[in-house]
Amino acid sequence: MERAIRYSKKREAILAAIRGTSCHPSAEWVYQRLRPLHPDLSLGTVYRNLTFFRAHGLVQSVGVVQGQERFDAITVPHSHFVCNCCGTVLDLPDIRPERDLERTVSAQYGFAVERCELTFHGLCPNCTDQQNFKEEPLS
Ligand SMILES: [Zn+2]
Ligand SMILES: [Zn+2]
Repeated sequence: MERAIRYSKKREAILAAIRGTSCHPSAEWVYQRLRPLHPDLSLGTVYRNLTFFRAHGLVQSVGVVQGQERFDAITVPHSHFVCNCCGTVLDLPDIRPERDLERTVSAQYGFAVERCELTFHGLCPNCTDQQNFKEEPLS
């Protein structure tokens, strides 16, 4: 009984950690964040709970970035930008591909499209600055 209650507290803490950030965290990030408060937490528990949340529609995966799957507590369709250099994942709430793309795909391929999200890959402004700095000739 006590185990069940403690487990559910961890589950709540994991969900709260994902909901409390816009960084689209990995399981590892959640684990590192919660470990000081929950010393008996394991990375396996974080993974199991993420799978549970995903199955229940509480989080969605935004794919694997630099070898780690990233998660989002915002489950309505929205587009993302992923930085290939630092791994930052940003929301693009104003990019609404569903308006035109869904119609195009339905018309062209005959699919009943239910959702449409785009992921852009490239360099974020910080990493662009750093690359420009590196490319500047030494004088
Ligand atoms: Zn970056
Ligand atoms: Zn997002």
